[in-house]
Amino acid sequence: MDTLTKQQRSERMSRIRGKNTRPELAVRQALYALGYRYQLHRKDLPGKPDIVFPSRKKALFIHGCFWHAHQGCKVANMPKSRTEYWQAKFQRNVERDKLNKRALRRMGWSTLTVWECEIKHTDRLLRRVTGYLGTAGTKVKKERSS
Ligand SMILES: [Zn+2]
Repeated sequence: MDTLTKQQRSERMSRIRGKNTRPELAVRQALYALGYRYQLHRKDLPGKPDIVFPSRKKALFIHGCFWHAHQGCKVANMPKSRTEYWQAKFQRNVERDKLNKRALRRMGWSTLTVWECEIKHTDRLLRRVTGYLGTAGTKVKKERSS
């Protein structure tokens, strides 16, 4: 049950690598469909947040559970060999994430972390993200009746 087929494993590895990975695309498309507009991978911001909402000063990080050592997560299993090497590596990633978020906060930004393993529960995830972002689109004009 818990062993991956070759294809699943290569899918997972390709997801871990680099930008525009599939889970990130899924989140982006869903948010776009809901009317949110955003920028991607802003290099001028600490940690290059994956999805940025400039007018709200809010940034989303989409983290792979493995590389960012998602606590208590099944996907984030510690490798059985070279444990110390991996532990140090994960520790550095987690530390860097923390520093980036702190730097963003100091610049007046808030951040939300989305974990790779959350993305398959799309509805729940979108509720969380839209709850964080607030209503989509431009500010609703107050209309006066009469
Ligand atoms: Zn996870």
